[in-house]
Amino acid sequence: MMFLLSGKIAVITGGGSGIGLATVKRFAKAGAKVVIGDITDQTQLAEEIGGLYIQTDVSKEEEVKFLMDKAADTFGQIDLVFNNAGVSGMKGRVTENPVSNYKRAFEINSMGILHGMKHAAGHMVRGGAIINTASMLGLRGDVNSSPYVSSKFSVVGLTVTAALELASKNIRVNCICPGKIATPMVNWETDAQRQATKLIIPLGRYGTPEEVASLVHYLCTDEAAYITGQAISIDGALSMGL
Ligand code: NAD
Repeated sequence: MMFLLSGKIAVITGGGSGIGLATVKRFAKAGAKVVIGDITDQTQLAEEIGGLYIQTDVSKEEEVKFLMDKAADTFGQIDLVFNNAGVSGMKGRVTENPVSNYKRAFEINSMGILHGMKHAAGHMVRGGAIINTASMLGLRGDVNSSPYVSSKFSVVGLTVTAALELASKNIRVNCICPGKIATPMVNWETDAQRQATKLIIPLGRYGTPEEVASLVHYLCTDEAAYITGQAISIDGALSMGL
């Protein structure tokens, strides 16, 4: 049976595509009122699910504050937050990658999460759950990917610290660490690259956005009432191999 989210108010960033989109649809089906924050226009999606779309660039603090204030003003409070918007970082070695690539990765992937937690928490007057999207690369390294890797390691740090600070308000904070998930973010890969990657994933395939949405959903329910401050992998055991 699907866990119900009836009466819950949820804010989801990056809700227009991939993992965020699958979560928007799943939450709406479970009965939540969903507020979508995305840089791309999601007015039609919001209409389809009976929710609200607020154009938001998560790297801009004032825009995230507006998103959270508007969600709370419209629906009374916020119960669930999925800080999920993110971008893949520009490739290059630590010694060669321009600092501007780190700034972009940090502004969206790290500060975007910080902005979301900072401006949602005060509206979570009934307690609730915050889920942040880190990555398998928030727990381990990857050659040529240091802007992304370092921005995602910081998501884990922000998550565990916020979990400690918000526990007394009964707000649980966890992050998810997806491995290879079939979304537009990995569309740049060639078929040959994808086949080679599948060979090193113990489950032998990429995950689906719906499988990640299912984890986010579980973490947002009372079934997960004692889980906070965790970085939870969802990667077909990719990160467990040598
Ligand atoms: P995606 O590209 O399909 O979706 C990303 C969404 O975020 C898009 O709707 C995009 O418009 C939005 N977005 C981008 N920049 C934004 C900004 N500044 N402000 C607001 N919205 C913005 O990607 P996805 O694979 O669904 O990625 C979702 C999250 O999952 C990201 O944080 C990504 O780093 C993480 N992740 C993905 C994978 C994977 O294999 N796909 C693996 C690990 C982690």
